[in-house]
Amino acid sequence: MANPTKKLGFGLMRMPLLSDGKTVHLEAVKQMVDVFMQRGFTYFDTAWPYHDGQSENILRQAVVERYDRNRFTITTKCPVWETETTDDMERIFNAQLERLGTHYVDYYWLHALDRGRIEKMDRIGAWDFMVKLRDSGRARHIGFSYHDDAETLERALAAHPEMEIVQLQINYADWDSPSVQSRLCYEAATAHGRPVVVMEPVKGGTLAKVPERALELMRGHSPQASPASWAVRYAASLPNVMMVLSGMSDMEQLMDNTSYMQEFKPLDNAERDIIRRVADIYNDNTAIQCTACRYCTAGCPMDIAIPDFFALYNTDKRYEQHSHWLNEKAYKTLLQAGHGAASQCIQCGQCESQCPQHLPIIDSLQLVAQAFE
Ligand code: SF4
Ligand code: SF4
Repeated sequence: MANPTKKLGFGLMRMPLLSDGKTVHLEAVKQMVDVFMQRGFTYFDTAWPYHDGQSENILRQAVVERYDRNRFTITTKCPVWETETTDDMERIFNAQLERLGTHYVDYYWLHALDRGRIEKMDRIGAWDFMVKLRDSGRARHIGFSYHDDAETLERALAAHPEMEIVQLQINYADWDSPSVQSRLCYEAATAHGRPVVVMEPVKGGTLAKVPERALELMRGHSPQASPASWAVRYAASLPNVMMVLSGMSDMEQLMDNTSYMQEFKPLDNAERDIIRRVADIYNDNTAIQCTACRYCTAGCPMDIAIPDFFALYNTDKRYEQHSHWLNEKAYKTLLQAGHGAASQCIQCGQCESQCPQHLPIIDSLQLVAQAFE
């Protein structure tokens, strides 16, 4: 296994797409991978459902088939919502190795655990299965990614010392959030001696576009630094953080991220102070705290573009309807592309059961409908 010495991982969940809006643009990804590797980064993070199942195949084509296996780190995850037995886990893990074109992964995670899923893992013997994977050498390290409260995390970490690492949503906007509990979860992992891999440091890209007042604060200190760089450096500055994942969508983002993470400098006190003020401004100006992970969309019977609607709604509220007609137009364009309208939600609840942020999606869609329909 390549020993990842730099704290930036390439998250393969928001890759560039071809003009059909669905197929991953393999050639563009290859170019991004090449620059990433040339700059000394080695860590690639994928998962079974990313890009509707394309992501692990893309990792094989863009990385595994083009670089020596010892030069990079592969991490992927078990889709626990699709597993009812350890036989399911075995079958899916084998399919993942095949997709990835490798006979082992460096890190294997139980994906997106919360209280209910932890109980399910207990029931089906998933923890023992993970240990067997590690003992057989097919997964070099094991852990779980997590979206729930810190108390439940504490209990899971205490009950499962065999889990070596934990992947958490950490970003400056969610640090003190009562629902995400970034800080409390980080502290729980640290107290239990587990290194942390950070997901969503830029909160699904939303911290790359902060309100004007926040941008002024950042620019006043470092005119050239992007808002995303502040967010990634914030997460990477936490001492118990082993890796920060960034779901990079184009070469520009990759060039930016790798530039300041190549010789990473933790935030100093003055920068920390700015981030605290930026977080307050951001949270005061964000109506719906969606990270655009899109876990909710695949099973929506009405094909409602939930995260896209929420992004438009947030923009609408942030600028106090200054550009309302533009947002309304963008909303209509999404409907013309075939998506269901917010008001067509049949309240089946599928989306809410998948949302790692535990957002009240159904109620929020009513707000969207009021704003744009
Ligand atoms: S509750 Fe509404 S938005 Fe959610 S999956 Fe069902 S129809 Fe789609
Ligand atoms: S509503 Fe929830 S599941 Fe859907 S994209 Fe936003 S954060 Fe993800």
